[in-house]
Amino acid sequence: MDYVEHVIDLVGDTPLVKLNNLAEGLAPLVLAKVEYFNPGGSVKDRIAVRMIEAAERSGALRPGGTIVEPTSGNTGVGLAMVAQRKGYQCVFVCPDKVSEDKRNVLRAYGAEVVVCPTAVAPEHPDSYYNVSDRLVREIEGAWKPDQYSNAENPASHYHSTGPELWRQTEGRITHFVAGVGTGGTISGTGRYLKEASEGRVKVIGADPEGSVYSGGTGRPYLVEGVGEDFWPSAYDREVADEIIAVSDAESFDITRRLAREEGLLVGGSCGMAAAAALRLARRLGPDDVVVVLLPDGGRGYLSKVFNDSWMSQYGFLPADHSGATVGDVL
Ligand code: PMP
Repeated sequence: MDYVEHVIDLVGDTPLVKLNNLAEGLAPLVLAKVEYFNPGGSVKDRIAVRMIEAAERSGALRPGGTIVEPTSGNTGVGLAMVAQRKGYQCVFVCPDKVSEDKRNVLRAYGAEVVVCPTAVAPEHPDSYYNVSDRLVREIEGAWKPDQYSNAENPASHYHSTGPELWRQTEGRITHFVAGVGTGGTISGTGRYLKEASEGRVKVIGADPEGSVYSGGTGRPYLVEGVGEDFWPSAYDREVADEIIAVSDAESFDITRRLAREEGLLVGGSCGMAAAAALRLARRLGPDDVVVVLLPDGGRGYLSKVFNDSWMSQYGFLPADHSGATVGDVL
């Protein structure tokens, strides 16, 4: 019989899908690594498995322990799924800009969710970083994976995402594009691809306008899961050859087009990364193979990116598109 022991055995080995309409007229082959095929629905399943198994080996996470992590949702799903298999509890701390849909997904997996304000500095006691630190001190047997500084985060991509791409493209990948949040994806995958190609593969980061990776100061933006207002240690500053800044408007436009024109219902950070990949592809030739990583699916964003009145409220759609007025209540 053909089955796996547990759903976590299905993490990784996600497919590459060609972008057709969005890449029309462009010389290179543009491929998307579609991470919503992971069983928890995002790229973060990869880091969850590896961070938990390393913590078990080091003794940082003991039987019956509690996993406490500040997460915008996807890492939480991965951790909750692995925790279910291994008998751990989960408490997740989310900024309030994370959609209610995403928080409910975490609760559905049996996790507890604590919501914190987005509009406070990281050093503020109510910031989601500080609240999670406090919970770790207060809960007995608590362990915080800390995806921002955990070396197993980039290592998971070095050992899975990178080798998969090298194998799937038969070593023909020339450019790898990924959004940067913790920096784990770009750092681990990028380092593997550079080593495998002896430096030939170029690594390009996509970043929301306003975030530190593209020279911003941490100015707020609406794309979720990417960009930072500080430099996490999971991010290897040496790995990216270039960082492309993308506006919220362009990120959301491309996100919607990925669904309508490619059949890929994905999240806003996917549109951001794809926008950067398409901008890059315009200056490349027919021998180039561009791979853009799409971190998650779009169902967690139906009330935002895929909602016309939400888009209009922020001025991302023409006023007459939905009847709402541009610049209306936020
Ligand atoms: N997109 C989404 C939706 C995410 O949740 C994340 C993770 N924060 C990323 C992109 C960025 O990935 P990484 O943390 O590996 O840089």
